[in-house]
Amino acid sequence: MTDTHVRPVPVPDALSAPFWQAAARHELTLAQCAKCGEVTLPPDVTCPHCHTTEPDFAFVPVPGTGRVRTWTVIRRSFLAGFENPFVLVDVELDGHSDLRIVARLLDGADVPLTIGARVAVEFEDIAPGVAVPAFRLEHGE
Ligand SMILES: [Zn+2]
Repeated sequence: MTDTHVRPVPVPDALSAPFWQAAARHELTLAQCAKCGEVTLPPDVTCPHCHTTEPDFAFVPVPGTGRVRTWTVIRRSFLAGFENPFVLVDVELDGHSDLRIVARLLDGADVPLTIGARVAVEFEDIAPGVAVPAFRLEHGE
């Protein structure tokens, strides 16, 4: 029997496993190419910067702060386990303007949002040993 109220849990593969292991410790990491030193997310089989097929990624922790690039309000989710409505933000991480990370905003669907608003990563523990990144607005700037 399938419980339709349970959120789907990420299924790590060999490439992404270190990212999810760090997430479980509430640590946001980016995949750093061993060949060129550039970072990417999510890790792919090739490095998007130098195109090596052996990027041998190391997962380096980042502070997880950034700015809202854009957002959308999800009023009807195609996935179970989400309380609607909720907000997905597209975040530009500090120092990594070429990366985008899309995640839930934990401040609720009615919070006033502006492009460029400061956010910081937090993690939602959704199953034993499984946490997913999300963001929360930083206040008092
Ligand atoms: Zn590279």
